[in-house]
Order: sequence, then structure tokens, then C-alpha cells
Amino acid sequence: MLNNHYIEKLLGLKDIIVTKIENDPDALHIYCELPRRTHHCPHCHQKTDKVHDYRFQVFKDAPAFGLNTLFHYRKRRYTCNHCNKRFYEKNTFLPRYFRMSTRLVQYVIDRMRSTHSMTDIAKHCNLSITTIFRLFKFIDYTNTSLPRVLSIDEFKGNAGRKYQGILTDPVNKKVLDILPGREHHILSDYFRRFKNRDKVAYFVMDMWQPYRDIAETYFKNATIVIDKYHWIRQITWAFDRVRKQEQKNFTRREGNTSKEADTYY
Ligand SMILES: [Zn+2]
Repeated sequence: MLNNHYIEKLLGLKDIIVTKIENDPDALHIYCELPRRTHHCPHCHQKTDKVHDYRFQVFKDAPAFGLNTLFHYRKRRYTCNHCNKRFYEKNTFLPRYFRMSTRLVQYVIDRMRSTHSMTDIAKHCNLSITTIFRLFKFIDYTNTSLPRVLSIDEFKGNAGRKYQGILTDPVNKKVLDILPGREHHILSDYFRRFKNRDKVAYFVMDMWQPYRDIAETYFKNATIVIDKYHWIRQITWAFDRVRKQEQKNFTRREGNTSKEADTYY
């Protein structure tokens, strides 16, 4: 008997019903479905909960417990009583455009923020390099409005520049766009085209000065939030600088020219 509440918490996937878990040496296989519920027909907006059929869709998720994770999702199709059209149920964990979970997409992007190379990420997530590159092409570039909470960050990308910008909606856990760089003119060109800039209430950023300038120019109603992760990293760096300086002073004061003192750090 699987305790679904626990599994839901463990997997971090809302509403999911896990029917079976299999373990083979290479991967963890999770069989799942969503509860049957009333949907609004996307064609005529009438309510229906009439099931048409099911099909299995396999998708990859972020690695768990050191294993690659594959979901076997029993995807349900409903029929509309009113217009007879069929449609798939809604889910929040699988983007339309990819055979990988939203969480895996997020995971890959998180890894790109640090110094992981594309090759390492591909290997770690059991994805091909091509998939990793394709991922960037399939991110939703069609967004025409900005969310209430907007977060900007950078990662080492593949565009031949040192950093690329990434825009996310942290509330709905969506990647909104990838920018070719994080310089002022790039950000400015990009944000200028959005009409609902005054609706952005929070602008989450690290301490990169151009972000602040952009926020002050384009998001006048937004409260600037410094991302905790970046803040902690800045403090670590600051401590590190002080430590190195003190180390030098100490070596100088003691007239200790040997390399020995260095080895303690
Ligand atoms: Zn209908």
C-alpha cells in the first residue's frame, strides 16, 4: 500500500497518484496518474468528467536517490458531452513541448547557474547534449506580459558570452525567457516592449548593478528583493577576501615566508 500523501511530498508533485514503483539498476520507474475530476472543455467551456481513454506517456524527471527517474504517466483524455471533442487532462508537471518534467527543466537550469558544463549536466540527468540545447529553444518565448513576481538571474550559457540572463516566475515556477546577456542595453531593449511593467510588484535579483538600474527605470512599483542565495554567496566571498588578507598579513607579520601557513586554509 503506497501512502500517497507521503509520496506526493517526497516527489513534490501535487495531486499525483502513484500506482507502482519499480527499481532497476539504471532507473527508478514511477507509475502515476491524476485523480479524475471535472474539466472545462477547452473548445466550448462546458463542464465534463467523462473519460474517453488513457495512454501512457513516459517522461524523465530530475535524478532522485542517485538514480535516473522515469515517470510512466497514465494520461487521461476526457470527452465533452456538449461538443463531443476530446482533450487531455490538465497537469502542472509536464510542459507541453517536452518529454521531461517541468522540474527537470528547472533542475537543468539551476545546474547551469553554477559552473557545470553542458556535458556534465547531460550526463548527470541522463539527457543528450542535443536535448539540453533544445531545451533552450523550447522555453516559452511567447509571453507577452510579465508576472507579479519576476526573478532575474544568470547562468553560463552557450551563446559565446560569459553569462546569459534567465527570467523566471518563481511563484508559478516557470522559465519565462532566456536573454543573450545581462548587460544594461540588452535588459533595457527587452523590458521596454512589455506594457504591464507597472504590475510587477516584486523584482528578485542578485546584486548586479545593472539589474538595480533596470528595476528603478522600468519597475517603478516593484519592491526589489535580493535573492537569499546570492546574498549568502556575497557574504561568503567577503569573508573569503578578509580571510585571505588576514592570512597575508599574518604571514608578513610573522616573517613566515614558508608555504606552510597556506596549507591550513
Ligand atoms: Zn465541448
